[in-house]
Amino acid sequence: MFGQVELLPADPILGLIEAFNRDTNPNKIDLGVGVYRDAQGNTPILQAVKEAEALLLTREKTKSYIGSHGDPAFGQQLLPLVLGQDSAVLQASRATLTQAPGGTGALRLAADFIHRCAPGKKVWISDPTWPNHYAIFNAAGVEYASYRYVDSNTNRLDFPAMLADLQQIPEGDVVLLHACCHNPTGFDLSLEQWQQVLEILKARKLLPLIDFAYQGFGAGLEEDAAAVRLLAEQLPEVMITASCSKNFGLYRERIGAFIAVAANRNDMEKVRSQLAVVARSNYSNPPAHGSAIVATILANPELNGLWRREVDDMRNRINTLRQQFVDALKPFGLAEKFACVAEQRGMFSYSGLKPEEVQKLQQEFGIYMVKTGRMNIAGYSEQNLQYLCKAIASVCG
Ligand code: PMP
Repeated sequence: MFGQVELLPADPILGLIEAFNRDTNPNKIDLGVGVYRDAQGNTPILQAVKEAEALLLTREKTKSYIGSHGDPAFGQQLLPLVLGQDSAVLQASRATLTQAPGGTGALRLAADFIHRCAPGKKVWISDPTWPNHYAIFNAAGVEYASYRYVDSNTNRLDFPAMLADLQQIPEGDVVLLHACCHNPTGFDLSLEQWQQVLEILKARKLLPLIDFAYQGFGAGLEEDAAAVRLLAEQLPEVMITASCSKNFGLYRERIGAFIAVAANRNDMEKVRSQLAVVARSNYSNPPAHGSAIVATILANPELNGLWRREVDDMRNRINTLRQQFVDALKPFGLAEKFACVAEQRGMFSYSGLKPEEVQKLQQEFGIYMVKTGRMNIAGYSEQNLQYLCKAIASVCG
């Protein structure tokens, strides 16, 4: 049987990583892969995580199953981080959380839940988006379609086009929204723009699925949650997928959560019962180590404070790199062309570089990024910023 299986091409990002690893250019820069890097180019383990793990080593008493919804302590800590300490939704017991293997696992729970409980509903996704969104809904057998998000001529957010498309979505369908740090573009909505989106969601009875993979990487842990909290407070039903991969640096532990906000406690219990079944048929129980780390950090005032400072440091570093990039392009007369990089938020930027420019950067300078011109801002550093900007000036000239 295996002989007649089709050989698939490698994932474009994995192909990029392999090409980068093979490149012998000593000045090479990897702007492709989506992980945070410090000034030395490392993806470090946060100090708060190290200390939580040390505590766990002595405190942990069992490796028994943690249940389909995951570790209750993790849920209790993550819900207020996402929805707010004084959330009316939490006070009314309208929210339920199911721990998942990363944001990806949470999205798969959402997709399976939609397939199971709302068959025939389409999911509307921004164009462009994180490519795995398509793969996840495909795998779950959920249909999807796109709404416009970016004006490719100006490389700017096209909010009027987004609103026009949202207004055309059939009543009752699901709309996937990036809470902050839109991947791949870096273009986020202002709070006023979220208000306008909210009005359309209300008027057309659309169900938002908010992908919250970068809390703390945009403007701050609380600030980045503003849209999530606005929609959760103002709408009867909201789905949220949270990831702890970036803000806790726990990429390989696979820790995230699916949160459903229901109109009332009764509906919440119904949704919760379905999610237990969805989780069980996927992987039974989620992995425990990541949730134990996150729950330990959030519950411990000292570790919580340390972690918040570490998130602030990561975010400030990225935002500083954004401004330095634009400043370093000034001498080449390119500051205006790339001004959007300083305005965008999160780890990624749609730079506006064309595919042929991206190819030249790779071949002539050993600078690797996705064909669409998406750069990982944390991929360069103060040390190679000049090299990067000179190379960009050379290919854009
Ligand atoms: N959503 C978006 C928009 C992402 O960029 C990512 C990670 N690249 C995820 C979800 C999933 O993250 P993870 O599964 O690593 O937690």
